[in-house]
Amino acid sequence: MNIKKNYINGQWQAAVKGATRDVINPCNAQVIGIVADSTAEDTQLAIAAAKSAFYQTGEWRRMSGPKRADFMYRIADAIKARLEELAVLDTLDNGKPLREARCDVEDAVACFRYYAGLIGKPQGGVYEVADGFGPMHAYCVHEPVGVCGLITPWNYPLLMASWKLAPALAAGNCVVFKPSELTPLSAVALFEIFDQVGLPAGAANLILGTGPAAGQELAQSHDVDMITFTGSTRTGQIIASAAIGNLKKVGLELGGKSPNIIFADADFEGAVEWAMIGVFFNQGQVCSAGSRILIEESIKDRFVARLAERANAMTIGSGLDDPDIGPIVSEGQLHKILGHVQLAKEQGAKLVCGGERVTEGACAQGYFIRPTIFDNCTRDMAITREEVFGPVVAVQTFKTEEEAIQMANDTPFGLAGGVFTTDGARALRVMKELRAGVTWINCYNPTFNEAPWGGYKMSGYGRDLGVNGMVEYQQVKQVNINLKPGPVGWYQR
Ligand code: NAD
Repeated sequence: MNIKKNYINGQWQAAVKGATRDVINPCNAQVIGIVADSTAEDTQLAIAAAKSAFYQTGEWRRMSGPKRADFMYRIADAIKARLEELAVLDTLDNGKPLREARCDVEDAVACFRYYAGLIGKPQGGVYEVADGFGPMHAYCVHEPVGVCGLITPWNYPLLMASWKLAPALAAGNCVVFKPSELTPLSAVALFEIFDQVGLPAGAANLILGTGPAAGQELAQSHDVDMITFTGSTRTGQIIASAAIGNLKKVGLELGGKSPNIIFADADFEGAVEWAMIGVFFNQGQVCSAGSRILIEESIKDRFVARLAERANAMTIGSGLDDPDIGPIVSEGQLHKILGHVQLAKEQGAKLVCGGERVTEGACAQGYFIRPTIFDNCTRDMAITREEVFGPVVAVQTFKTEEEAIQMANDTPFGLAGGVFTTDGARALRVMKELRAGVTWINCYNPTFNEAPWGGYKMSGYGRDLGVNGMVEYQQVKQVNINLKPGPVGWYQR
């Protein structure tokens, strides 16, 4: 098997210590790839390459906007040309159903195109300023931050890479990217594309390896000007602490325990369908998953029964066969989920369906778990407070709008939330009170490149996507111009 290498300064390079790690297909526990297993030494080489490309060569940041945009469009076209191959890679690596992986690749293409299109659009401003020093004029420009470290999780391998790489590069930064060690294969393919389109050496560098060994150096190095991270809240805290040494800019997209609030007047079947999408899409391994269903008491029994009927009917199997539910990404993650299930049972939640590993047929070789619903959940249970990151939903009931809002906000997280009702004014009232960065009314989970994405509270800070996503990777410089050069008489009063 070909060993996939780091990409540093435009060259494919083995890890300095020569170490490698296996990449596992979660569908059958087979090895599907071997990749470099880097350490801080490799990361330092990548940082040095990005630093030199940004501060010395400067080719990427000085490139004209249209030319940089042209690179971004060509990257998008090349991703599109390899759509099926990239979708299969993410399915093999992560386990997700193939149609979902295809959507991810389409979204990645759109993301590069979106940020290509933003290059050169009006930014900054021109200001009328006070004339105490004589006639003055001021304007602001947006400039790249410099060397950016980007770290992503495994749940959307290519898409999370694109959410970070596209705006960071569009803004003119030089980057070092570290994907999750569990799902590195599509990242390697993406860097093959960067190589193929001829991105200037050092503008984009790839480091393969684990977080503590290879990633943390990006957070702590004084040569990195910014770190953006998507992953768990615990790792986000480690990264924020490690980043403090040089006060680098930090962006954190972290975990969630998001409420999906369903009122009795909602369109019933629509709410069931969206609740399914909210919690079982991508095997529930979605940061914004509607993993707490808060439902008005009067329709709870009917709703839970219908949800369980739908969940029990879901097909489970290899992502390549395009089932409703594929495997969990790794054995470790599977056991973590089963641990949450066990604890929920011990704490008195009522298991309605699922809750167990699939041990029959071909699924026995992989890391499959049945879609799981817990009823009678209360605010003090871990299942309503902690992120499971799997196909597990906790159902809680409410009687009033006020109670629903209180329950919705009663976690340390604030990433996402949804509300289902046919009362428009109520939908907007609830939205106004929800402490979350990404919200939906009468739908759950649709995400768009055009709109900023990120969390409140312990779900992080900073935003991916949209114009805000580009601004994250920029500094704002103020330029003040004296329109009447010469002494102003300030010291001659
Ligand atoms: P994780 O925190 O374990 O790992 C994420 C990345 O961080 C990986 O690349 C990992 O190698 C790296 N890492 C781990 N320890 C590190 C360290 N000490 N220093 C530097 N890097 C380190 O998360 P995960 O299990 O890969 O992903 C699941 C989590 O991601 C969930 O909590 C989920 O909610 C979150 N997530 C959030 C969003 C969002 O937009 N808010 C999107 C997707 C996933």
